[in-house]
Amino acid sequence: MRIGCPKEIKPQEYRVGLTPDAAREAVARGHEVMVETGAGMGAGFADADYSAAGARILPDADEVFAAAEMIVKVKEPQPVERARLRAGQVLFTYLHLAPDAAQTHDLLASGVTAIAYETVTDRTGGLPLLAPMSEVAGRLAPQVGAWALQKANGGRGVLMGGVPGVLPARVVVIGGGVVGTHAARVAAGMGADVVVLDRALARLRYLDDAFGGQFRTAYASAGATADLVARADLVIGAVLVPGAAAPRLVTRAQLGTMQPGAVVVDVAIDQGGCFETSRPTTHSDPIYNVDGIVHYCVANMPGAVARTATQALGNATLPFLLALADKGWKLACAEDPHLKAGLNVHAGHLTYPAVGAALGLQV
Ligand code: NAD
Repeated sequence: MRIGCPKEIKPQEYRVGLTPDAAREAVARGHEVMVETGAGMGAGFADADYSAAGARILPDADEVFAAAEMIVKVKEPQPVERARLRAGQVLFTYLHLAPDAAQTHDLLASGVTAIAYETVTDRTGGLPLLAPMSEVAGRLAPQVGAWALQKANGGRGVLMGGVPGVLPARVVVIGGGVVGTHAARVAAGMGADVVVLDRALARLRYLDDAFGGQFRTAYASAGATADLVARADLVIGAVLVPGAAAPRLVTRAQLGTMQPGAVVVDVAIDQGGCFETSRPTTHSDPIYNVDGIVHYCVANMPGAVARTATQALGNATLPFLLALADKGWKLACAEDPHLKAGLNVHAGHLTYPAVGAALGLQV
């Protein structure tokens, strides 16, 4: 199959859909791989790395879209990219169609077969192509929180690990899923005193069994949440209610109970955020202050570590990518219900019920 990987054009997106390693594996199986010049630059991969892997470098996105039977990307196609898609072509990328009527309409009109990373499933009911980005954002959260706690950034001037004779920072993680677990592990590794809150008892049991020596757990009742938040130096928001906006768990009034200069890192901001005072920020202007509390609410945190994020995403997408290339989308989806769960649009038809319900379109 002819596989094409264009350079990402969404502002501040430095990841790339295909690593040189993935290109090498596809080429070894007899596929033709075409990469737009400079596509891997933001993630630290040079054209020469792709050439060495057996890929062909093309001078612009027009040529990649024109030549490829399957387009592999990271972000949802932007309007100029959608205009290049054509009937019969396969698109494999993050789409997030439910809140995006314009994109959905364009994909339907193009006749493309679009498989969305975020709805591919696994045997445990998880989302294997979303998990790597949650792992990245989770591990990054204490790192940015520690930075925001520094005086020069408006924080309390508290060091995560303390020093001998001085207590460490108190870190509260709300939500003990993928983001929360990785955030808690890194914060504990930095020496902080960490508590993870969740409402799923089974999850709290697992966390206690697996990480009991590193951090503590608490049931996320409104009372316990308010108590712990009031005493925290750093609060990390990591809740998710699948298919819904994040629940608002910390009100503006509660900020007044917190320590001046305390920090909130709202990783759940991409679902609306779990603090009443959260609003999305960007890597170029990541923090703001409300009532003396520093807020970090970057909606695409993995972009800050584009190289790690690209490699993590590439590891997760590779088996699906190879199945699509080896078998074609029809057979690959027929043989793997988890990949089929990723199918959102085919030949002018919407195939994913939740997107139809969100946009009032027939599936
Ligand atoms: P997950 O499903 O693995 O975990 C969510 C956890 O929240 C679950 O354990 C659930 O029981 C818990 N939860 C739900 N309601 C709760 C409540 N009221 N109180 C306490 N806990 C509650 O999800 P995840 O992969 O960890 O993702 C968490 C959030 O981070 C999502 O909104 C996701 O979109 C977001 N995210 C953001 C970025 C970013 O760059 N900002 C990157 C990756 C993920």
